[in-house]
Amino acid sequence: MKGFLPYGRHWVNDEDIQAVVNVLHSDWLTTGPMVEAFEKAVAEFVGAKYGVAVSSGTAALHAAMYAAGVSQGDEVLLPPMTFVATANAVVFQRGLPVFVDINPDTLLVDSANLQDKITAKTKAVIAVDYAGQPCDYDKLRDITNNNNLVLIADACHALGAKYKDKKVGTLADLTVFSFHPVKHITTGEGGMVVTDNPTFAERMRRFRNHGIATDHRQRAELGTWYYEMIDIGYNYRLSDFQCALGVSQLCKLSAWIDRRREIAKCYDEAFGEELTIKPVSVSENAFHVYHLYVIQLDLNRLNGNRATIFSALRREGIGVNVHYIPVHMHPYYREHFKTGVGLCRVAETAYERILSLPIFPAMTNENVTKVITSVKRVLETYRA
Ligand SMILES: *Cc1c(COP(=O)(O)O)cnc(C)c1O
Repeated sequence: MKGFLPYGRHWVNDEDIQAVVNVLHSDWLTTGPMVEAFEKAVAEFVGAKYGVAVSSGTAALHAAMYAAGVSQGDEVLLPPMTFVATANAVVFQRGLPVFVDINPDTLLVDSANLQDKITAKTKAVIAVDYAGQPCDYDKLRDITNNNNLVLIADACHALGAKYKDKKVGTLADLTVFSFHPVKHITTGEGGMVVTDNPTFAERMRRFRNHGIATDHRQRAELGTWYYEMIDIGYNYRLSDFQCALGVSQLCKLSAWIDRRREIAKCYDEAFGEELTIKPVSVSENAFHVYHLYVIQLDLNRLNGNRATIFSALRREGIGVNVHYIPVHMHPYYREHFKTGVGLCRVAETAYERILSLPIFPAMTNENVTKVITSVKRVLETYRA
């Protein structure tokens, strides 16, 4: 990492490593007691009744689509300002992803546009808590309740976030988290869906285990070989040693969120007067947990485009990144779903302007100062 600051980075210490080693010395490497412990710990942390651990955030999205009953021809509404996996999960279930434009200030899904895109075939909505800021869940809940739709939160950026003092994890019918190394806490690869609905939880437990009604450990306890596969499913299980890492990481989450918010505050203060950039707006209802710190460039006040600024910052060792290329712009969606330029203009315009700055709990104050100084210097160099 010397000399280069990535936009995000995991933090694993000796305690975490010992927790994994302990499981490696035990009887269960997968589907053992640590899976349950991790599910309980995350569910409790976010205030949900059930947690279902799976092998990735993507698998969690897929399991949520399955639980929601998304199948052939069902339309699922989602914003394009997200990672491709959000839309892909709809396609896995042969649903039709319908892209809804975003608000230009918060870059979160626009509820007016959402309302407009509901049809008789709409089955569910996936809200994306982009960058770590929860969406306007009061509005989303109204719309989904009035139209009998399942509300799913892609909260891969938003573990620990709150909306009006209610935790992300309690605001939608199903809430999805990722434990990829760049996210708030990690299990290497991993994900979880939390829900208060016991039927959804049971369906997802079956789905992650080939569609088989009981798991290996339950059968061992019952002393039986017999099992029934009652629907198609996958091997989306998360191993016990990964869950041990997750439990250990979760203990640090609150402190890490504080640090992320502290870094974001430094950036807010440093860039408040900068005319060439506009930070993403944060609603007063949001407790933002800053998976990403995103700035929008004011291209009218700059010589050069986002790529110019991106390259100049990379040359300074600042690992800026772009989150995201709007999903409907990818060749796959253009070809198979006839999407393309003009479908979500606000997202397309935002895409031309956004940059994610480094933000992760292990960043030192010197790192933060280096980012601020470099960004200011580069913007000054290219000011129109
Ligand atoms: C990371 C991420 C995912 C996918 O999670 P994986 O664990 O990498 O499969 C899905 N949606 C969003 C918004 C993400 O940031």
